Amino acid sequence: MADFEERVAEITADNPLEGWLKAALADPRRAGVFVDFDGTLSDIVATPDEATAAPGAAEALASLSERVGRVAVVSGRPVSYLVERLAGCGGAIELIGLYGMEAQSGTDPGRDEPGRYRSVSGPERERWLAAVEVAAGEAEDAGIASLSVERKSLSVALHYRSDPAAAPAVRDLAGILARRTGLSVHQGKMSVELAPALGIDKGTVVSERSAGLQAVMFAGDDVGDLPAFRAVDRLATQGIAALKVAVGGAEMPFEVMRAADVVLDGPAALVELLHAIAASAGATPSSEGSAPLGAPGSGPGSARGT
Ligand SMILES: [Mg+2]
Repeated sequence: MADFEERVAEITADNPLEGWLKAALADPRRAGVFVDFDGTLSDIVATPDEATAAPGAAEALASLSERVGRVAVVSGRPVSYLVERLAGCGGAIELIGLYGMEAQSGTDPGRDEPGRYRSVSGPERERWLAAVEVAAGEAEDAGIASLSVERKSLSVALHYRSDPAAAPAVRDLAGILARRTGLSVHQGKMSVELAPALGIDKGTVVSERSAGLQAVMFAGDDVGDLPAFRAVDRLATQGIAALKVAVGGAEMPFEVMRAADVVLDGPAALVELLHAIAASAGATPSSEGSAPLGAPGSGPGSARGT
C-alpha cells in the first residue's frame, strides 16, 4: 500500500489528477482510459501520413491495458492507420476509428467486431462511401492549389497546413460540398473534415464504452475531442470519477484547454502519465480479485466522485 500512496503522490503533487487516480486505482478493473491519437499520442506533423506514436506510447497502452478495465484509442483516423502506428499493443486495447464508425480490438489483423459498435456497413456504407468520393473529387478539382485532400474511406479531410491563408476558402468549399453530399463538416487543426451525418462522435463512443466503469479519463488535443470531454462531464454527474486531459502544444485550441481538468505539455508527457498509471495500478492490492468488467451485476455502481 505504501507503494500505491507513494506513486499517487509522485504523479499528482496536488493537482486534479489526485482524486481521479485514487478512485481509479481503488478498483483498476473498473477504470477506463480513452485517448485520441494525433496531437495526443503523436506530435502534429506537416503531412498526416508522417505521424508516428510518441516513443513508448504503444508500450504504455499495452501495459495499461493489462491493468485497467478498458483502454481505447479514439481517433478520427481509420482503424488501419491506428493499427500500423500502434503495433505491439496486443489484443486488450480497443482501436476506434473514424469517430466511432470503425472499431477493432487489438492491433492484430482480422479482429473487426462490427456487431459490437454502431459501425457503418452494407448499403449504408456504400452510399456514404460514394458521397465521400464525390466530395473528395470535387475538392481536388476546386482550384485551391495548396489544398491537400486526405481520403479516409468513410470521411475525407481537407488540409490547409501548408497555406493557412487558404482557411476561409477551404471552409467555404467544405460547406458547399456538405450541402451537396449530405456529409457533415467537422473543424480540425489546419483542416476541415467531411463525414457522414450519423450522430456518432467521440462523445457517443466514450458514453457507450464507459458502461460499468467507475473512473473514466479522456485525453485529447483538438476541438474534435470536445464531445468526448462533454461525455466525461456527463459521467461525472452520475458519480463516476472523471478526468479530462488536454495534451498541449502551440496549436491547442483555447476551448480545449479551458474544458480540461489537466493540461500536459505534449504527447511525451501523456505517455509518461500512462506509464505511471499502469505502474500504480500494478502496485495496487485491489487490482487482484476484483470482478472483471462486464461481469453480471456490473454497472456504474456506487458514487465515487472526484
Ligand atoms: Mg488529435
